[in-house]
Amino acid sequence: VPLAERKLIARIRRQAGRAARTVLQGIGDDAAVLVPPRGHELLVTTDFCLEGVHFRRDWHSAGVVGQRCLTRGLSDIAAMGGEPIAAFLSLALPRALPQQWVDGFFAGFLRLAKRFDVTLAGGDIAHSLTGVLADVMVVGSVPRAKAILRSGAKPGDVIYVTGRLGGAAAELQSLGKADSSAQKRRLRMTPLPRVAVGRGLREKGLAHAMIDLSDGLSVDLAHICEESGVGAVVNQHLLPIASGAALNQALHGGEDYELLFTASPRAKVPVEITGVPVTEIGWITRERKVLITDLMGKPKPLKPKGWEHFNSRASLGDTHL
Ligand SMILES: [Mg+2]
Repeated sequence: VPLAERKLIARIRRQAGRAARTVLQGIGDDAAVLVPPRGHELLVTTDFCLEGVHFRRDWHSAGVVGQRCLTRGLSDIAAMGGEPIAAFLSLALPRALPQQWVDGFFAGFLRLAKRFDVTLAGGDIAHSLTGVLADVMVVGSVPRAKAILRSGAKPGDVIYVTGRLGGAAAELQSLGKADSSAQKRRLRMTPLPRVAVGRGLREKGLAHAMIDLSDGLSVDLAHICEESGVGAVVNQHLLPIASGAALNQALHGGEDYELLFTASPRAKVPVEITGVPVTEIGWITRERKVLITDLMGKPKPLKPKGWEHFNSRASLGDTHL
C-alpha cells in the first residue's frame, strides 16, 4: 500500500533535493517560483504516461516507467533547442500498488532529472481507480527568438535525423511475442533525450525546423511539413535503421526520441554532434506531399501511421500535440 500522501510527498521532497538557481522555490509551497536565465523565453510541454497505453507494468520496470515519463518531456524541450529547467509530476496511483513500485518509479525519474540538471519542482498525488496515471510537465528555456520551430522548413532543405530508428518498436514487438507466463522479459531500452544535440544545433544556427521522433518518423515528418507548408521526399536506402529493426519500424515506430531537423543544403552539418551520428535522409519539396523513394528510386506516398503502443483493445493510441 502506498504511503499516505503527505508522507510520500515528504519523501519525494527529500529525494528531489535542493532547488537549482533557476528554481527559487520548488516542492513545499502553493506554486513553484522559477527564474529563467536573463534574455531567455520559457518553453512548456506536458505529456501523459498511462498504464496500458504508454507502458505495461509486466513489461516495463518501475524505474524504466519513471525514466520514460520524464524522457518524453525532456525530448520535447530538446526539439526546441532548449535547456530543461524544472519538471512537474501529477501522479494517480491505485491503492493496491506496492510501495516498492512507487519507490522504483521515483528512483528512475529522479536519476534522469539529476543527469539533465532538472529539478522536480512540484506536482500532485491522488488515488487512481484504474491503473497508474502520470502527467509530466517540463519547463525549459531558450535564448529569445532562438527556439527551433516545426514551421521553419524550406523547399530545398536537407532532412536529417540523429541516431538510429526503429529500435524501440523492435524491442516492444519482441516483448509482445515472448511467452509472458514462461519468462518475465522486461524492456531494457531506455533512450536518452537528445538535449545536447538540440542545444548544439541551436547554438550553431544550423536547423531551420526541428521535431523529436516520439510518434514515429512518418507522423513527425508530416507535422514538420504541415506546419511549414511544404512536402518531403525520404530516401529509403539512406535511413539509419537500428540493428534488429525492420524498415516499417524505422518509418512508423515511436519512442526513439531522436531528433529530425532540416537545414539549408549549403549548411555545413557535421556527421556527428556531441557523439551522436547525424544522417541525411531526404529533402524538403515545394509540393505539399510526403513521399518515399524505394531502392529503384520510384517515389510513393509515405502515409503517416500512428504508432499503437500495444496491440490490445486497452490501447487507446496516442495523439501527441
Ligand atoms: Mg515532441
